[in-house]
Amino acid sequence: PGATMFDERSSAPTHPPATWSLAGRTMVVTGGSRGIGEAVVRLAREAGARVAVLDLTPSSAGDCFVECDVTDTEAVNAAFNEVRRTLGPVDSLVNNAGIAPPGRFEQLTDASWEATLAVDLTGVFRCVRSALPQLRERGRGSVINVGSIAGRHRSFTASAAYAAAKGGVIALTRQLAHEFAAEGVRVNCVCPGLVATDIIRRNVTEEQRAQLAAAIPLRRLARPDEVATTICFLATDAASYVTGAVLDVNGGLY
Ligand code: NDP
Repeated sequence: PGATMFDERSSAPTHPPATWSLAGRTMVVTGGSRGIGEAVVRLAREAGARVAVLDLTPSSAGDCFVECDVTDTEAVNAAFNEVRRTLGPVDSLVNNAGIAPPGRFEQLTDASWEATLAVDLTGVFRCVRSALPQLRERGRGSVINVGSIAGRHRSFTASAAYAAAKGGVIALTRQLAHEFAAEGVRVNCVCPGLVATDIIRRNVTEEQRAQLAAAIPLRRLARPDEVATTICFLATDAASYVTGAVLDVNGGLY
């Protein structure tokens, strides 16, 4: 009695309390065959989700695999249709597929600039566009974009094209969070610092890796599962009031 819409106590939850479970959820992870993506697939399945992997390289880590190049609009549309047929409507989309070609600005060609943006930024646009009708369907959709420290501060190993693409992912996250909030679709971005995956192994020597680790306040690179936990948290109801957020997972490296 006497409660108003401005009194949060009046809006007692009508659903079960928020949990960390992903039981009954369908998740798509792009680039889920390796690295951070593979760690997300494993953790989400442990939390009860049914997970589809969209990647160039086949993987048996998920409940289904669809070969899909995120730079190919038709392939992306076909992949989301196939996921719907196989696992049901998508509740969570993790836009993780990415490339990080190295090189200084003077060495950037039109082709390498465009190839980097095609995967890292336009790939996110394509996947969200394809998944959106499914994400809206059950009113509990969640998009988690994998950004990077490079899009917030600076790139440590990759080119300026990568930094520009990841900065675009952060801006896109905020815009989509605003546009989709009324439909119950949350959109967030996780920005890893330096994570021990093939992207790093390809681009840095052991000596450089030790120098990078020394510059990180936690004094080491992240393990992929340490990024996967934050990504999966954002897919759960435990994050039901989190949208438009950009979360750094970087060992204190600002
Ligand atoms: P990996 O290179 O280990 O894995 C990337 C995955 O994406 C691979 O399976 C790769 O497939 C796939 N992929 C690449 N291009 C495409 C494409 N066009 N279509 C579909 N799939 C594709 O990278 P990480 O796990 O390290 O990186 C994952 C994400 O995290 C990326 O967005 C990256 O930018 C971001 N990130 C990583 C950091 C790090 O330090 N590792 C730091 C900050 C951000 P294939 O193997 O066939 O090439």
